[in-house]
Amino acid sequence: MTTAWEIKQYDSIDSTSLEAKRLIGQGHGHGVVVSARTQTAGRGRLNRVWDSAADAGIWFSVILEPDVPMEQMSLYSFVAAVAVAEAVRETAGLAVQVKWPNDVLSGGRKLCGILLELVAERNQPLRIIMGIGINASQQLADFPEEVQQKATSLALETGKAIDRNLVLDAVLRWLDVYSRQLEQSGFEPVKKRWQELSCMSGKAIQIVRQGEALLYGTALGIADDGALLVQTEHGVERIIAGDVSLRAADGGYVV
Ligand code: ADP
Repeated sequence: MTTAWEIKQYDSIDSTSLEAKRLIGQGHGHGVVVSARTQTAGRGRLNRVWDSAADAGIWFSVILEPDVPMEQMSLYSFVAAVAVAEAVRETAGLAVQVKWPNDVLSGGRKLCGILLELVAERNQPLRIIMGIGINASQQLADFPEEVQQKATSLALETGKAIDRNLVLDAVLRWLDVYSRQLEQSGFEPVKKRWQELSCMSGKAIQIVRQGEALLYGTALGIADDGALLVQTEHGVERIIAGDVSLRAADGGYVV
């Protein structure tokens, strides 16, 4: 069944994920989408700031009640990444890449961030809040200085103005497609699509955690639980958390 999405549109909000959590507290559930023109406290992983300037991007969070076992809930970050990739290809004509655990890149720069949160309330189904931020109309100078090094937008990549509502609608449509695939066929189809879109397979990478290089190796792919598989000199390691950088031509590590 396709989801009857209910889009709640805000001008300005602290964060669409926080609002989604408040809405869950008020009894809202599956299919509610919180979209805002700007976020004043948008966040990425580890509470890192997500720059969400007014009307510059597609800033939204989706509430889902997935029909999968608990241990598969985190796989929805891959569902989100492939859905964004398909939507951007369809609406902006842009071929993007995905990067573990939950980034969408264009030309090696971050186009979109994804943040998944699990919400367990007493006597209620487990829910996911899927936060998605897609940079749309920014020029490089519009980003904070630290972000300018690694970010891009649909406008920068395509040279065109993109209708943000069209992109949002397409992401929601593809979310339905890939959520259903995960529920009905398991992780394999989503995993296959993610690996086709991956910018990492076979590449030399570095895993960084808490600012420290943890591991160097070659990215192999993802496991059935979403862990990143890395070939190191000591064998294959499974990575479940961390930031990945790819080795550049000069031997340094980027993004
Ligand atoms: P993800 O979980 O998507 O990797 P992060 O937690 O890395 O997200 O996202 C936060 C980081 O992304 C920030 O530390 C900042 O460097 C960068 N960032 C912040 N805002 C943006 C943006 N609008 N576009 C691209 N990168 C951004």
